[in-house]
Amino acid sequence: MAVEKGQFPDVAAVARALSPSYPVYCLRPEVLAETARRFISQFPGTVLYAVKCNPHPLVLSALYKGGVRHFDTASLTEIAQICDTYADAHAYFMHPVKGRAVIKSASSVYGIRHFVIDHEDELNKVIDVAGVDGTVIVVRVDTPPADDALYHLAAKFGADAGEAARLMTLAKERGCKVGLAFHVGSQCRSPDAYAEALAVIGEVIDMAGFQPTCLDVGGGFPAAYGDRPTPPLEDYMAAIRGGLKELDLSPTVEVMAEPGRALVAHGCSLLTQVQLRKGDRLYINDGIYGSLSEMSQVAVRLPTRLIRLDGPVSEMAGEFVLNGPTCDSLDVLPGTFTLPADVREGDWIEIDQIGAYSNALATRFNGFHPETFVQVFDTPPALAAA
Ligand SMILES: *Cc1c(COP(=O)(O)O)cnc(C)c1O
Repeated sequence: MAVEKGQFPDVAAVARALSPSYPVYCLRPEVLAETARRFISQFPGTVLYAVKCNPHPLVLSALYKGGVRHFDTASLTEIAQICDTYADAHAYFMHPVKGRAVIKSASSVYGIRHFVIDHEDELNKVIDVAGVDGTVIVVRVDTPPADDALYHLAAKFGADAGEAARLMTLAKERGCKVGLAFHVGSQCRSPDAYAEALAVIGEVIDMAGFQPTCLDVGGGFPAAYGDRPTPPLEDYMAAIRGGLKELDLSPTVEVMAEPGRALVAHGCSLLTQVQLRKGDRLYINDGIYGSLSEMSQVAVRLPTRLIRLDGPVSEMAGEFVLNGPTCDSLDVLPGTFTLPADVREGDWIEIDQIGAYSNALATRFNGFHPETFVQVFDTPPALAAA
């Protein structure tokens, strides 16, 4: 991955210095660190960053500066990246389906002890390969779909309550420590979803007849994208505290969360360039096969800012459709973007709140692959507008 080591005071300075005709991720390390600090100070337990959301080394180091020492990892690549970079970091293997060789390396090379499972065969596989000594088997529980989540991640993984209790008992009988985990779905706009999921966890604990050593409430905490109001983080923490109180857990139970999006969405803008204007259609140099793939599923409204270095910009605004660079006619962003009426070829458009599931999902389709990262220290457009 190409990393521009450059640091710039603001995004306009990036445009001035690089005059980039390629898309540039403008990371805001101070925003990332502050967001991590805030989440850690509010969450009643251990905060794991879900690496898949944005694994860029500069993102990880900003979160590390903000105090993140625990990481939700799902592959050997992610585990190696964390463990090889940070001697004092802890990685947890949170994927319910793992290859034997991968479990072996995770366990014996990297010392991973936490493994998620949602099926008896996977339980046996982990014990076969990693042994039971110090092994924490974390049973992933299928919880009710949150009405208001962008993706329902429980649709693919998770054991129902009865099966989860059975797996807990099996793991304990084999001599492992036992944890429980769930995931309400990404960009979950309903704090109640966490309380409801914790009620299911209560049923599992009752059926199993013993308490877990750890309880992981997953990720799903939303970013404030501004298409409609998002409850503040405090409401999620209150729902989780309330749900935990009902469970009346022993104080020795380690509570954990695995936020991805909520930690990184606000800490990065994307600097794109207009390559052609046709009326109200703008052809830009990034799109749904690149950094903006999530937008093919949801018409979230991301804040934008026009950057023009060679003249004044119209005070009038217009609505524009943004077309991505590939030849695929699907490569068009849904909805319209409000930009100055005289936007033209060569202008840059800064698209804010692009830190989550952007570079992590970008493809190389048609030879377009955004891979340039810089760091900036200005106020993000989303906050400047607030
Ligand atoms: C993707 C994922 C996360 C992070 O989800 P966000 O919605 O980005 O917070 C956390 N845990 C698991 C198991 C995941 O698959």
